[in-house]
Amino acid sequence: MSSPAERRERLKEVYAEASTCTKCQLAQTRTTVVFGSGNADADLMFVGEAPGANEDKQGLPFVGQAGKLLEKLLGEIGLTRGDVFICNTIKCRPPGNRDPHPEEIATCEPYLRQQVELIQPRVICTLGNFATKLLRGDPAGITRVHGQAETRTFGSHAVRLYPIFHPAAALYTPSMLETLRVDFARLPELLAMAPPPPPAPPPVAGIEPPPEPEEASESDEELPGAAVPAPQLGLF
Ligand code: URA
Repeated sequence: MSSPAERRERLKEVYAEASTCTKCQLAQTRTTVVFGSGNADADLMFVGEAPGANEDKQGLPFVGQAGKLLEKLLGEIGLTRGDVFICNTIKCRPPGNRDPHPEEIATCEPYLRQQVELIQPRVICTLGNFATKLLRGDPAGITRVHGQAETRTFGSHAVRLYPIFHPAAALYTPSMLETLRVDFARLPELLAMAPPPPPAPPPVAGIEPPPEPEEASESDEELPGAAVPAPQLGLF
């Protein structure tokens, strides 16, 4: 397993590759590729939808009104942007802030998967429908699944996936803002849980796989010790 420093260096390489990406039509209209920002060794990763006009100009995710709300909600649970990693489902702004097209999401997906593999968060909080549907691999909408954590495997890691409403949707709808706050308030509890067990290795032909260990229910899991301070990825 590679060290946090090695993963961080690799993340920088992926960033360099993404920053000149021309794999989809959004390359023709974007100003900047918005790769993501925050702590490259974060326990908590947020995945939004797509950069908007401000993000496209500044090259950073969630710097507009929705970002201010996200920062406020983070503050309410004692976290700052520097504690977490924030990125989007697609890294380039769709013109006029239209919805991302399925082929744009599919083309950009390897960047997100590599971010997850290299940051190794314990909890991925998907913001809104696009990130939730992509990472759950299921068309169920955010209204149905928000606030329900589940364990999912990404590459070699098991992660708690936690869908919540997109902050932009809550900006002007007080009831949604309240729901978002309630869902947000569960994040410290999810972060305090022991990491989910890693996925079982694929079976080798001719060899019986060992029996599945019984997984403790979420409420039985132990609280971890104090978190080790992680290096900041100032670049992003
Ligand atoms: N909305 C998003 O989904 N992402 C951003 O970066 C900004 C607004």
